[in-house]
Amino acid sequence: MVSSGVAPGSGPDGGRVVAMLRELAELTSDSAGAQRVAWTGVWQQARAFLREQLQGLPVTVHTDAAGNQWARLPGGSNDVVIIGSHLDSVPDGGWLDGAYGVMCAVEVIRCLAAGGPLPCTVALVEWADEEGARFGHSLFGSSAVAGTLNAAEARELTDAAGLRLVDVVAEHGVVLDQLDEARQEIRGARAYLEAHIEQGPVLEREGLPIGAVSGTVGVERHRVIFRGQTAHSGSTPMDARRDTFLAAAATALAVRGSAVRHQGVGTVGAASLRPGIVTAVAGETAILVDQRHPDARGLDAMLAEVRRASQDAARAEGCIVTWEPVFRVRPQPFADDLVDVVREVCAELTGHGRVLSSWALHDATPIAGIIPTAMVFTSSTRGISHAREEDTPEDHLRLGVEAFYRSVCRVIARSPDCTNGQSDP
Ligand SMILES: [Zn+2]
Repeated sequence: MVSSGVAPGSGPDGGRVVAMLRELAELTSDSAGAQRVAWTGVWQQARAFLREQLQGLPVTVHTDAAGNQWARLPGGSNDVVIIGSHLDSVPDGGWLDGAYGVMCAVEVIRCLAAGGPLPCTVALVEWADEEGARFGHSLFGSSAVAGTLNAAEARELTDAAGLRLVDVVAEHGVVLDQLDEARQEIRGARAYLEAHIEQGPVLEREGLPIGAVSGTVGVERHRVIFRGQTAHSGSTPMDARRDTFLAAAATALAVRGSAVRHQGVGTVGAASLRPGIVTAVAGETAILVDQRHPDARGLDAMLAEVRRASQDAARAEGCIVTWEPVFRVRPQPFADDLVDVVREVCAELTGHGRVLSSWALHDATPIAGIIPTAMVFTSSTRGISHAREEDTPEDHLRLGVEAFYRSVCRVIARSPDCTNGQSDP
């Protein structure tokens, strides 16, 4: 049942969304997985595929100053409800991450266009470079629109081949100095809704196909460097060593312990030892620490505990330790009233209105800072994502399409400017 305010169309066709996703995967994957890395030819192929799907619909398509692709379905006011996700993938990625949300949005636009005049404008957005796979800068297009992208920092980034981000994005029509122009795109925006696969095991463990997302967790990433003394593995007695690896290893255990205590997550995803040979005690060890928690206080407590543990470990091994910030984002709650809409829709469709945190970041993260935002999650098989094995049962994907469509219709119907026909100046 669709709320009043939107003329009932035929409803979304989940099978068509799955078919589009399979066709896109065929076009942009190899035997190792999806290869839609942003700012590459394969990514542009995926974006052309999106434009093909939009052909014949009454939308105007354009690309903004940050490289985001938009399709606007005009309605009775300049009030805008934005829906979308990203098409770029990590190298050897899965077929659903990002692409699912974009194809859901295409199907919703198709249904809305068939359903008669809309009270407000609906805009589909395909965000540029969500993954940051090539230059390490995640959420490029969405943070440009949100006004949180630091162009000066982005200017310094290079890819593995030494090519500069500033030059590569220019080849795709994006001028770093003009990024701010992309902020115009959200004039009159009243809500942002995104469908995505969970990329974790929570829904599957609970036997649920879909759920509402309460927000995205906060992230603290640091490079932690231990400095001691390089020495001979044979002739240095055990009580005369300043072994940086042992201090790093003790810190890694503290990362896990702290995450378990606070019900967050913590990872040491990289470690490098110098000189890194079997015949020497490592005089320097650097580790990369990633800590995440839905609540700012929990995140701050985890960070403080691990800092302290690293200092204790360094002292115990006769080393010194320094911390360098790599990346941080605060926990970003979504808009309570929109989360409620999605939760109610999920409850209608499945009997369960499950609300869960997102432990991955999404384009919804920066956007939620400026526009009321909510997300629909579908389950992820074995919780696996960013891998060729990424999958979701087809009936869950179809339910997600229906939940997303109903949520969008309700948000359109309840947007105040939509119902009284006023436009945003
Ligand atoms: Zn994604």
